[in-house]
Amino acid sequence: MPSALPLLSTAKRTARRAGITRAGVAAARMCCERNALALREKHRVRARILCYHSVGTPEWGINDVAPARFERQLRLALEEGWRFVPATAIADGSAGPGTLAVTFDDGVSTVLAKAAPILREFDIPFAVFVVSEWADGHHDFGEGTILDWRGIETLAAMGAEIGSHSLDHPNFRGLNGDAALEQLARSREVIAARTGIDARTFAIPFGQSGNWTEAAQQAAHAAGYTAVYAQAEETRFPGTVPRTFVTRFDGDRIFRAALGGAFDRWEEWF
Ligand SMILES: [Zn+2]
Repeated sequence: MPSALPLLSTAKRTARRAGITRAGVAAARMCCERNALALREKHRVRARILCYHSVGTPEWGINDVAPARFERQLRLALEEGWRFVPATAIADGSAGPGTLAVTFDDGVSTVLAKAAPILREFDIPFAVFVVSEWADGHHDFGEGTILDWRGIETLAAMGAEIGSHSLDHPNFRGLNGDAALEQLARSREVIAARTGIDARTFAIPFGQSGNWTEAAQQAAHAAGYTAVYAQAEETRFPGTVPRTFVTRFDGDRIFRAALGGAFDRWEEWF
Protein backbone atom coordinates (compact mmCIF):
# COMPACT_ATOMS: atom_id res chain seq x y z
CA MET A 1 0.00 0.00 0.00
CA PRO A 2 2.34 2.74 -1.26
CA SER A 3 -0.15 5.52 -0.53
CA ALA A 4 0.19 4.84 3.19
CA LEU A 5 3.96 5.21 3.17
CA PRO A 6 4.27 9.02 3.34
CA LEU A 7 1.78 9.02 6.18
CA LEU A 8 3.75 6.31 7.95
CA SER A 9 7.06 8.15 7.63
CA THR A 10 5.44 11.38 8.86
CA ALA A 11 4.11 9.46 11.86
CA LYS A 12 7.56 8.01 12.48
CA ARG A 13 9.18 11.46 12.31
CA THR A 14 6.57 12.86 14.69
CA ALA A 15 7.09 9.94 17.08
CA ARG A 16 10.86 10.41 16.95
CA ARG A 17 10.51 14.13 17.70
CA ALA A 18 8.24 13.33 20.62
CA GLY A 19 10.80 10.85 21.95
CA ILE A 20 8.54 7.86 21.40
CA THR A 21 10.66 4.77 20.80
CA ARG A 22 9.67 1.70 18.83
CA ALA A 23 10.02 -0.40 21.97
CA GLY A 24 7.85 2.06 23.87
CA VAL A 25 5.11 1.93 21.24
CA ALA A 26 5.30 -1.88 21.17
CA ALA A 27 5.06 -2.03 24.95
CA ALA A 28 1.99 0.22 24.91
CA ARG A 29 0.41 -1.97 22.22
CA MET A 30 1.15 -5.12 24.21
CA CYS A 31 -0.34 -3.55 27.34
CA CYS A 32 -3.55 -2.76 25.37
CA GLU A 33 -3.68 -6.29 23.99
CA ARG A 34 -3.36 -7.91 27.41
CA ASN A 35 -6.05 -5.64 28.86
CA ALA A 36 -8.42 -6.43 25.99
CA LEU A 37 -7.81 -10.18 26.07
CA ALA A 38 -8.23 -10.25 29.84
CA LEU A 39 -11.89 -9.39 29.29
CA ARG A 40 -12.30 -12.76 27.56
CA GLU A 41 -11.33 -14.80 30.58
CA LYS A 42 -12.28 -18.45 30.13
CA HIS A 43 -12.29 -19.67 33.75
CA ARG A 44 -10.74 -22.99 32.92
CA VAL A 45 -9.47 -25.05 35.80
CA ARG A 46 -6.45 -26.95 34.64
CA ALA A 47 -2.75 -27.31 35.34
CA ARG A 48 -0.79 -24.24 34.32
CA ILE A 49 2.91 -23.32 34.25
CA LEU A 50 3.70 -19.63 34.72
CA CYS A 51 6.77 -18.12 33.05
CA TYR A 52 8.44 -15.19 34.78
CA HIS A 53 11.81 -13.62 33.98
CA SER A 54 13.05 -11.08 36.51
CA VAL A 55 11.49 -9.81 39.74
CA GLY A 56 12.66 -6.26 40.35
CA THR A 57 14.98 -5.72 37.35
CA PRO A 58 13.19 -2.89 35.49
CA GLU A 59 15.77 -2.92 32.68
CA TRP A 60 14.50 -6.40 31.77
CA GLY A 61 11.54 -4.53 30.25
CA ILE A 62 8.09 -5.97 29.69
CA ASN A 63 9.04 -9.25 31.37
CA ASP A 64 9.98 -7.73 34.69
CA VAL A 65 7.50 -8.06 37.54
CA ALA A 66 8.00 -5.93 40.66
CA PRO A 67 8.62 -7.96 43.85
CA ALA A 68 5.46 -6.69 45.61
CA ARG A 69 3.35 -7.60 42.59
CA PHE A 70 5.00 -11.03 42.33
CA GLU A 71 4.18 -11.73 45.97
CA ARG A 72 0.63 -10.49 45.46
CA GLN A 73 0.18 -12.80 42.46
CA LEU A 74 1.29 -15.86 44.43
CA ARG A 75 -1.03 -14.91 47.28
CA LEU A 76 -3.90 -14.34 44.86
CA ALA A 77 -3.37 -17.75 43.23
CA LEU A 78 -3.33 -19.46 46.63
CA GLU A 79 -6.48 -17.60 47.71
CA GLU A 80 -8.20 -18.77 44.54
CA GLY A 81 -7.39 -22.37 45.44
CA TRP A 82 -4.50 -23.14 43.10
CA ARG A 83 -1.95 -25.62 44.44
CA PHE A 84 1.70 -25.08 43.51
CA VAL A 85 3.68 -28.07 42.22
CA PRO A 86 7.02 -28.48 40.39
CA ALA A 87 6.78 -27.68 36.67
CA THR A 88 7.99 -31.20 35.86
CA ALA A 89 4.87 -32.64 37.53
CA ILE A 90 2.71 -30.68 35.10
CA ALA A 91 5.00 -31.44 32.14
CA ASP A 92 4.82 -35.20 32.72
CA GLY A 93 1.08 -35.12 33.36
CA SER A 94 1.25 -36.35 36.95
CA ALA A 95 -0.22 -33.15 38.46
CA GLY A 96 -3.97 -32.87 38.48
CA PRO A 97 -6.19 -29.93 37.54
CA GLY A 98 -5.96 -26.80 39.66
CA THR A 99 -2.19 -27.04 39.93
CA LEU A 100 0.18 -24.21 39.12
CA ALA A 101 3.97 -24.06 38.65
CA VAL A 102 6.46 -21.20 38.68
CA THR A 103 9.37 -20.97 36.22
CA PHE A 104 11.92 -18.27 35.41
CA ASP A 105 13.80 -17.79 32.12
CA ASP A 106 17.23 -16.19 31.56
CA GLY A 107 18.84 -16.59 35.03
CA VAL A 108 18.45 -12.98 36.16
CA SER A 109 19.94 -12.16 39.58
CA THR A 110 16.70 -10.91 41.11
CA VAL A 111 15.31 -14.44 40.93
CA LEU A 112 17.71 -15.24 43.77
CA ALA A 113 17.71 -11.85 45.48
CA LYS A 114 13.98 -11.04 45.34
CA ALA A 115 11.83 -13.94 44.12
CA ALA A 116 13.42 -16.87 45.96
CA PRO A 117 12.84 -15.48 49.50
CA ILE A 118 9.16 -14.88 48.64
CA LEU A 119 8.79 -18.37 47.16
CA ARG A 120 10.46 -19.87 50.21
CA GLU A 121 8.07 -18.01 52.50
CA PHE A 122 5.13 -19.61 50.66
CA ASP A 123 6.96 -22.96 50.29
CA ILE A 124 6.44 -22.86 46.51
CA PRO A 125 8.72 -24.95 44.24
CA PHE A 126 10.19 -23.29 41.15
CA ALA A 127 12.46 -23.88 38.16
CA VAL A 128 15.11 -21.58 36.65
CA PHE A 129 16.30 -21.88 33.04
CA VAL A 130 19.81 -20.49 32.63
CA VAL A 131 21.80 -19.35 29.59
CA SER A 132 25.19 -20.99 30.12
CA GLU A 133 27.32 -18.37 28.31
CA TRP A 134 25.62 -15.61 30.30
CA ALA A 135 26.26 -17.46 33.56
CA ASP A 136 29.89 -17.70 32.42
CA GLY A 137 29.92 -13.88 32.31
CA HIS A 138 29.73 -13.52 28.51
CA HIS A 139 26.98 -10.93 28.10
CA ASP A 140 26.44 -7.19 27.69
CA PHE A 141 24.03 -6.71 30.57
CA GLY A 142 25.09 -4.64 33.52
CA GLU A 143 27.32 -6.08 36.21
CA GLY A 144 25.37 -8.19 38.66
CA THR A 145 22.31 -8.44 36.38
CA ILE A 146 22.79 -12.12 35.57
CA LEU A 147 23.34 -14.94 38.05
CA ASP A 148 26.78 -16.50 38.07
CA TRP A 149 27.24 -20.21 38.78
CA ARG A 150 27.51 -19.65 42.53
CA GLY A 151 24.15 -17.94 42.49
CA ILE A 152 22.69 -20.77 40.43
CA GLU A 153 24.09 -23.32 42.91
CA THR A 154 22.51 -21.34 45.75
CA LEU A 155 19.12 -21.56 44.03
CA ALA A 156 19.58 -25.29 43.50
CA ALA A 157 20.47 -25.69 47.19
CA MET A 158 17.17 -23.94 48.01
CA GLY A 159 15.39 -26.65 46.02
CA ALA A 160 15.02 -24.92 42.65
CA GLU A 161 15.12 -27.08 39.56
CA ILE A 162 17.82 -25.83 37.19
CA GLY A 163 17.18 -26.25 33.47
CA SER A 164 18.82 -24.97 30.31
CA HIS A 165 17.84 -21.94 28.25
CA SER A 166 20.61 -22.58 25.65
CA LEU A 167 24.23 -21.50 25.27
CA ASP A 168 23.62 -17.87 24.23
CA HIS A 169 19.87 -17.37 23.68
CA PRO A 170 19.62 -17.75 19.88
CA ASN A 171 16.46 -17.87 17.79
CA PHE A 172 16.31 -21.57 16.99
CA ARG A 173 14.30 -20.76 13.86
CA GLY A 174 17.59 -19.80 12.19
CA LEU A 175 19.59 -22.85 13.31
CA ASN A 176 20.08 -26.11 11.43
CA GLY A 177 19.93 -29.42 13.28
CA ASP A 178 23.64 -29.50 14.14
CA ALA A 179 23.65 -25.95 15.48
CA ALA A 180 20.50 -26.64 17.49
CA LEU A 181 22.06 -29.80 18.95
CA GLU A 182 25.19 -27.82 19.89
CA GLN A 183 23.06 -25.25 21.78
CA LEU A 184 21.05 -27.95 23.50
CA ALA A 185 23.71 -30.54 24.32
CA ARG A 186 26.60 -28.19 25.05
CA SER A 187 24.62 -25.98 27.44
CA ARG A 188 23.60 -29.09 29.35
CA GLU A 189 27.26 -30.18 29.51
CA VAL A 190 28.39 -26.74 30.72
CA ILE A 191 25.74 -26.66 33.47
CA ALA A 192 26.92 -30.11 34.61
CA ALA A 193 30.60 -29.12 34.43
CA ARG A 194 30.13 -25.88 36.42
CA THR A 195 27.62 -27.09 39.03
CA GLY A 196 27.27 -30.87 38.85
CA ILE A 197 23.58 -30.35 38.08
CA ASP A 198 21.93 -32.60 35.50
CA ALA A 199 19.64 -30.22 33.59
CA ARG A 200 16.86 -32.38 32.19
CA THR A 201 14.51 -29.66 30.96
CA PHE A 202 14.85 -26.85 28.41
CA ALA A 203 13.02 -23.55 27.89
CA ILE A 204 12.95 -22.22 24.31
CA PRO A 205 14.64 -18.79 24.00
CA PHE A 206 11.91 -16.21 23.17
CA GLY A 207 9.55 -19.19 23.38
CA GLN A 208 7.21 -18.34 20.52
CA SER A 209 6.00 -21.05 18.16
CA GLY A 210 8.09 -19.42 15.40
CA ASN A 211 11.24 -19.76 17.51
CA TRP A 212 11.27 -23.56 17.32
CA THR A 213 11.56 -26.19 14.58
CA GLU A 214 11.15 -29.91 14.12
CA ALA A 215 14.95 -30.20 13.88
CA ALA A 216 15.28 -28.42 17.23
CA GLN A 217 12.63 -30.64 18.79
CA GLN A 218 14.50 -33.76 17.59
CA ALA A 219 17.82 -32.30 18.82
CA ALA A 220 16.27 -31.68 22.26
CA HIS A 221 15.32 -35.36 22.49
CA ALA A 222 18.79 -36.38 21.26
CA ALA A 223 20.39 -34.16 23.92
CA GLY A 224 18.40 -36.01 26.58
CA TYR A 225 15.85 -33.40 27.63
CA THR A 226 12.62 -34.75 29.07
CA ALA A 227 10.60 -31.55 28.56
CA VAL A 228 10.80 -28.51 26.28
CA TYR A 229 8.89 -25.48 27.57
CA ALA A 230 7.26 -23.06 25.14
CA GLN A 231 4.55 -20.39 25.28
CA ALA A 232 0.81 -20.48 24.66
CA GLU A 233 -1.22 -23.67 24.98
CA GLU A 234 -2.96 -23.30 21.63
CA THR A 235 -0.07 -22.01 19.50
CA ARG A 236 2.94 -23.96 20.82
CA PHE A 237 5.05 -26.21 18.64
CA PRO A 238 3.77 -29.83 18.78
CA GLY A 239 5.43 -31.82 21.54
CA THR A 240 6.41 -28.79 23.64
CA VAL A 241 4.98 -27.92 27.06
CA PRO A 242 2.84 -24.75 27.26
CA ARG A 243 3.53 -21.93 29.69
CA THR A 244 1.68 -18.74 30.51
CA PHE A 245 3.94 -15.68 30.33
CA VAL A 246 3.49 -13.02 33.00
CA THR A 247 4.37 -9.43 32.02
CA ARG A 248 4.88 -6.18 33.86
CA PHE A 249 1.42 -5.06 32.72
CA ASP A 250 -0.32 -7.78 34.69
CA GLY A 251 -2.26 -6.33 37.59
CA ASP A 252 -4.77 -8.46 39.48
CA ARG A 253 -7.40 -8.46 36.72
CA ILE A 254 -5.02 -9.52 33.95
CA PHE A 255 -3.26 -12.04 36.18
CA ARG A 256 -6.57 -13.64 37.17
CA ALA A 257 -7.53 -13.76 33.48
CA ALA A 258 -4.18 -15.39 32.66
CA LEU A 259 -4.86 -18.09 35.26
CA GLY A 260 -8.27 -18.56 33.66
CA GLY A 261 -6.81 -19.12 30.19
CA ALA A 262 -7.38 -15.73 28.53
CA PHE A 263 -3.91 -15.85 26.97
CA ASP A 264 -3.88 -19.46 25.81
CA ARG A 265 -3.80 -18.28 22.19
CA TRP A 266 -1.57 -15.24 22.78
CA GLU A 267 2.20 -15.12 22.34
CA GLU A 268 4.46 -12.41 23.63
CA TRP A 269 5.81 -10.95 20.42
CA PHE A 270 8.95 -9.02 21.24
ZN1 LIG B 1 14.89 -15.95 27.45
